Amino acid sequence: MNFDQEQQYRHEMVQIGRWLYERGWTPSYSGNYSVLLDEQRILTTPTGYCKGLLQPADLIIVDRQGVPLDPQTPLPSSELLMHLAVYAERPDVHACVHAHPPCTIACSIAGIELTQPLLEDIILTLGKIPTVPYARTGTAALGEAIKPFIRDHDALVLDHHGSLTVASSLTKAFHRTEQVEQAATIISTALSMGRLQPLAAEHVADLLAVRRARGGNPKAEPLLPEA
Ligand SMILES: [Zn+2]
Repeated sequence: MNFDQEQQYRHEMVQIGRWLYERGWTPSYSGNYSVLLDEQRILTTPTGYCKGLLQPADLIIVDRQGVPLDPQTPLPSSELLMHLAVYAERPDVHACVHAHPPCTIACSIAGIELTQPLLEDIILTLGKIPTVPYARTGTAALGEAIKPFIRDHDALVLDHHGSLTVASSLTKAFHRTEQVEQAATIISTALSMGRLQPLAAEHVADLLAVRRARGGNPKAEPLLPEA
């Protein structure tokens, strides 16, 4: 990774901070995200910064244990432990985005899971979005809690907390956060209007066939309603 590439990542991180903050998905100082610069180094957001106001020079570089390479830089978020768990479990993942999108959190508080085959786009891409049981923010326990879920899924809801999305690039991971919050918004809006009507079984089967043909992970497929 040369200097110019690192600068590109820094600018992408700043842009993603603005997108997250302006959409209300990382209010106050919440949220954090990271990208692998190479096998040894991770570029990530510092703790205690508003993501909407980040500048390229504010971002910090840590090692695979989360320790800043330069002791003069601010510390990373305590939630970086989650990202480290993701990178340890998923060699294909190069970026993680953790946010606090309100509808996603509201669904978890209401006990609504985003695992049914209701939305065409989600069936074809993420499959399902499971909810990770609650573990306190910033603890190694949360990192451990996500491990069994992140192995087969690219987007998770963290119970009573937020979202975690992963991808081969930062912008893709951001777009997955967008998909999670949109799914949560649509499903909660539909529920507020009445009941959820399932997509007909033949249409679900058709979408699953397309998903499988595209190489979608079978373990991430949505949960079919009991017959
Ligand atoms: Zn959080």
